[in-house]
Amino acid sequence: TVLVLGSYNQDHAWSADDLPAPGATRLGSYTSGPGGKGFNQAVAAARAGARTGFVTALGEDAAAATARALAAADGIVLHAEVHGSLPSGTAGIFVDAAGRNVIVVAPGANAALTPGFVAALDPAFAGADVFLAQLEVSPEAVHEGLRRARAANALAILNPAPANAFTTEALLRQADVLTPNETEFAALLQRHRGLACDADTLAAQDDAALHALCRELAPWATVVVTLGASGVFVSHPGEALRGDATGAYRLRPEAVHAVDTTGAGDAFSGALAAALAAGADAAFADAVRFANRFAALSTERRGAALAMPRRAEVEERFGP
Ligand code: ADP
Repeated sequence: TVLVLGSYNQDHAWSADDLPAPGATRLGSYTSGPGGKGFNQAVAAARAGARTGFVTALGEDAAAATARALAAADGIVLHAEVHGSLPSGTAGIFVDAAGRNVIVVAPGANAALTPGFVAALDPAFAGADVFLAQLEVSPEAVHEGLRRARAANALAILNPAPANAFTTEALLRQADVLTPNETEFAALLQRHRGLACDADTLAAQDDAALHALCRELAPWATVVVTLGASGVFVSHPGEALRGDATGAYRLRPEAVHAVDTTGAGDAFSGALAAALAAGADAAFADAVRFANRFAALSTERRGAALAMPRRAEVEERFGP
């Protein structure tokens, strides 16, 4: 079982030929759909084949009803803290013909998820093999979740996204596995180790240099850096996780026809969690290989949560 803790957002997306300047109006088209890193990752884990629970906070509004219906449709067990005085999380997204966007996120209920609600979910934690969180809900709730997961002997994965969200050293230390993309990795190195670097600098590093940076950031953790269209880099601590060889390695990206990489990172973390939960004997490298395939396939469809593929589709495309 995978237990995901994180955000639900209702995304509202408007497309127009060009983005209006302040004070201006444009005619365009509109779609709405589910989003939020937490929900995207829960859907990914469920479709990757794991029994999945999702801990989140919702308002009492239409978006909350949508969240409940969509979770049920993917067989996800929802543990929602209801905040009647707050709206569910929303994102307003404006996209121009060139694909450039401007986004405003209103966290709403997500920011109010309490550690007390998380602490009361003992049975859910007791049944979890893998716990997975991101940084779009209150940091206190994330910290409580990671702490409970470790106490319950679940593997604790932190996807430290979005970049520059509030983190503390104590929070990072609760994670067995970190899954930043290059931007998030650079932000963590800056914030926690005072190392000035950016995503482009990281992309130019060889494996030995990346491994050293991963060890410097989180010597206790396995660090999995997603490299977008360049694949993924894995760095293990000295102490082997699940009998893997210690050290570092890189996986090439799968060849796909990417049309929309929104949510690729969410697909990766959700699928990794599911693969690791599938068997305590499963080698970490096999789980990473599956997540690399799953995330690649997710880029062939538009959207985030609803664009997640299913395990059978991944196996049909790339083999078992
Ligand atoms: P994020 O969505 O957080 O920016 P990335 O862009 O690093 O995350 O993508 C996450 C993962 O998705 C990558 O590590 C890779 O496995 C897969 N992926 C993303 N873009 C592509 C692509 N163009 N081709 C193949 N795989 C991709």
